[in-house]
Amino acid sequence: MELEEKKKKLSQLRQEISKCQKCPLAKNRTRTVPGEGNPNAEIIFIGEAPGFNEDREGVPFCGNAGKFLDELLASIDMKRENVFIANTLKCRPPENRDPQPIEKEACRPYLDQQIEIIAAKIIITLGKHATETFLPGVGGITKLRAKLFRRPGNRYFFPLYHPAAALHNGSLRDTLIQDFNNIPEALKKIEAEAKPALAKKENLRLF
Ligand code: URA
Repeated sequence: MELEEKKKKLSQLRQEISKCQKCPLAKNRTRTVPGEGNPNAEIIFIGEAPGFNEDREGVPFCGNAGKFLDELLASIDMKRENVFIANTLKCRPPENRDPQPIEKEACRPYLDQQIEIIAAKIIITLGKHATETFLPGVGGITKLRAKLFRRPGNRYFFPLYHPAAALHNGSLRDTLIQDFNNIPEALKKIEAEAKPALAKKENLRLF
């Protein structure tokens, strides 16, 4: 899909999300948080749900967890503008409680459409909720973190700890920083899957 077409579709989706009444979270939201970033991104990050700051600003990851995410991005020479950042829910759950199944189900089509339009090389699920959404029944985040999963439609998933969980926990924080540095390698593997000659040249072990 051409860039202009992607922009148009993402903007239509934003409009639609801003009017959404598909679940009870619509009642108490200040703003919807559809997600934002580069429509041609190679990487999509998917978090859990908007928190207090995101609900006020309409921008994903704009609080402390977001600052940490920005630092992590900088560690692999990336900026927010290079990637796309979204959440499993587009509205804030009260008191930041866990997303409920009916909320996730109601919101899922928006996320699926964003993924379809952007067609990134890799989807990085941040934390348990986003990971369960795409890799249900495969295992907990501690087991799945920093492993690359290929799913039908040539979608690749790379689960990581959630920055908010890692922010105040020294060992999770160190692990997340290290795992983040494996993102470029995961991208290389995905490229090599499409080009086996490259895999051989770079001596990359595939799946
Ligand atoms: N945590 C999330 O999962 N998403 C945000 O947008 C902010 C914090």
